[in-house]
Amino acid sequence: MDLHTLTLTALQARLRSGDCSAVDALEALEQRIAHVDPKVGGYLSRNFQTARAEAERADVSLPLGGIPIAIKDVINVQGEPCTAASKILSNYTAPYNATVINKLRAAGAIPFGRLNLDEFAMGSSTENSAIQRTANPWDLTRIPGGSSGGSAAVVAADEAFASLGSDTGGSIRQPASLCGCVGMKPTYGRVSRFGLIAFASSLDQIGPFTKTVEDSARMLSVLAGRDPQDSTSLELPAEDFTRLVGRDIKGLKIGMPKEYFIEGIDPQVDAAVRAAVRQYESLGAEIVEVSLPHTEYAVAVYYIIATAEASANLARYDGVRYGRRAEEVRNLQDLYIRSRSEGFGEEVKRRIILGTYVLSSGYYDAYYLRAQKVRTLIRQDFSRAFEKVDALICPTSPETAFKIGDRSDDPMKMYLADIFTIATNLAGIPGLSLPCGFAQVDGRPLPIGVQLLGKPLEEANLFQIAHAYEQSTPWHKARPTL
Ligand code: GLN
Repeated sequence: MDLHTLTLTALQARLRSGDCSAVDALEALEQRIAHVDPKVGGYLSRNFQTARAEAERADVSLPLGGIPIAIKDVINVQGEPCTAASKILSNYTAPYNATVINKLRAAGAIPFGRLNLDEFAMGSSTENSAIQRTANPWDLTRIPGGSSGGSAAVVAADEAFASLGSDTGGSIRQPASLCGCVGMKPTYGRVSRFGLIAFASSLDQIGPFTKTVEDSARMLSVLAGRDPQDSTSLELPAEDFTRLVGRDIKGLKIGMPKEYFIEGIDPQVDAAVRAAVRQYESLGAEIVEVSLPHTEYAVAVYYIIATAEASANLARYDGVRYGRRAEEVRNLQDLYIRSRSEGFGEEVKRRIILGTYVLSSGYYDAYYLRAQKVRTLIRQDFSRAFEKVDALICPTSPETAFKIGDRSDDPMKMYLADIFTIATNLAGIPGLSLPCGFAQVDGRPLPIGVQLLGKPLEEANLFQIAHAYEQSTPWHKARPTL
C-alpha cells in the first residue's frame, strides 16, 4: 500500500506496530510531492534534509511521533523562510518558532514544508499569492479556495497527512470544503498565535487540515493550550479532543440557521447540505430551525474590522525593521512609500487603504465603532441559538471551486465567497468543515463541504457530531485522480 494515502491515525498505528518507519512515511510523501506537486503547486518549499534527520530519531510513542506535517507560510519555523506569500517578506528568515511549532515538535511531529496562501492570508482563492498559483486537485483549472489553499490542496492530494492553516474569516473551512478535506477553526483563544503573522488579531485562529475528523481531533489535542506569549490564549486544562469521537449522537439538537439556506446558493451545494441534514436526522439527531437575524451584516462588518486591524498589523512592514527595503531611496518618506508600494500586492494595499479609512477621524464612529456594535449583535445571535441547540449546520461555501481567474477582477464577488464562514470568527466560536458530497461540473466531480458550528470551547462535541456523519457516509474516502 502507498503510505502517502494513509490517514494520520492509520499512519500512527503502522508506525507504532513497526510496519513502517517514520523515514518510510517521509519518503513516501517526498515521492508523492515530486509526482503531483508540479501540477498542484501547494508547496512553496520543503526541507527534507532536516526532516529526514528528525524522522531517523522519531519517538513514535509520542502523540504525533514521526508524522510529517506541512505548514502554511504564515507560521514561523526557526531558520526557515516565512513569506506570507508576499514580496515584502521575500528576504525574511524566521528567527524563532511559533508556539504551535514547538507544540508539534514536542509531540514528535516533523514540520517539513511551507504552503502557499493568499498574500498575508487575504483572499479566498490563493490567487493573491505573489509567488505561485495553487490548483484544486480535483480540477487543475480551478482554485483550491483560500487563503489556506496550499494547506487544503496538499492534504486532499495525499501530499501531506495533515497541515496547519489559519482562519480569520473562513480561510481554513472554505478551502477544506472546496478541496474535500476536514478543516477546523477552534474557539478564539484556544490555540496560541504566537509566531503567526498577524492579519486581524481579534479574528485569527490557527487550526488543522486533515483527511478525517478523528485526525483533526488528534491535531487539536496537540495544538491547544495556554501560552504566556499570547495574551489572548485561554487558561484551560489540556483536553483530549478525541474523547467523544465514536459516541452516538441520538437526541442531540442541531440547528439549521434559516439565513444560511437562502437563494443564490449553488443548487448542487444546497442539495448536498440538505441531504447531510437528513442523514443527521436518520442518525437520531433532532433538527431545529433557528434564526441568526444579523447574518446579513456579517460580510460588511468583517470587512471593516478585519481591514482596520490589518492596517495596524501591517504598519510594521516599512523596510526598516521588517520587510524588504527599496533600494536607492531619496529620504525616509521615500523609503516607506517605495518599500510598501513595491512590496505589497494589490489586494493587501486595498485592505490597508480600507482599514486606514474606517479608522480615520471623522469616519471612525460611522464605520469602525458601528461595526463593533453589530459584531456584538452577531455574537448574541449565536448565544441565543445555542440556548436551543447543541450545534449548527449549514453550507461552508455557497458554491464549489470556481475557475482560476474567474473572480480576480471583482473583489466584491470574491468577498462573498466567505458569506457562511465569516460570522463564526466575529463570534469567536469553533467551526469545522467536512466533505458531504460532490457536484458534477463540466463532467467532473467537485467536492462540497458541510459546516458545523459549536458553542465556545465545545470542540470535542463538534468532533463527535462531525465524526458520526463522516463514518456513516463515503465522502471522506474519495480521492482525486492526479
Ligand atoms: N477570505 C477572507 C478574507 O479575504 C478570509 C481570509 C482568512 O480567513 N484569512 O479576508
